[in-house]
Amino acid sequence: MKKCKNCGALQSDKHFYCIDCNKKLDAPLSDEDKAKEEAHLEKTIQNLSNKSDYFYVSKSDKTTTLLLGILSILHIILMIIRKDFYREYYLNWIVFIIIVLSISVSIDVRFPRISWNLYKLRFYLAVDNIDDIEPSSFMLWARRFVPRVILLLVIMAFIVMLISSFIA
Ligand SMILES: [Zn+2]
Repeated sequence: MKKCKNCGALQSDKHFYCIDCNKKLDAPLSDEDKAKEEAHLEKTIQNLSNKSDYFYVSKSDKTTTLLLGILSILHIILMIIRKDFYREYYLNWIVFIIIVLSISVSIDVRFPRISWNLYKLRFYLAVDNIDDIEPSSFMLWARRFVPRVILLLVIMAFIVMLISSFIA
């Protein structure tokens, strides 16, 4: 195994020039370096296949739920500090909706199996073997995308409420 110094591509010992960038290649890697590269490659492949697994909870999923929790608390603190303003414009209801939404999204992100089993129930009468149903790639995309959009909305709602409650 050889590694290109210029672009980092790995290639067979038979090559003298990099197949990616055409630079001249050095001598093959030592056994130790080769093992390191193979372990790194293995990890990268593992990460890629985890990302395509519907039930895999990534680091960024965990961060999303943590931020939703922190923002829910910030919304409640602001509501308590500016309670007259919130009451006047019925904003308590918006905070209530934000918190319910944050909790349900967090459960869906952290425990995808729970929401998937609930979702499957709607096929209960229509399908013979309910365990044969698997999440589609669209659902995988939605599972990663929707919580981030909601997080963005919750952040924006907090900024708008913070500014308007102190201007009013
Ligand atoms: Zn190269």
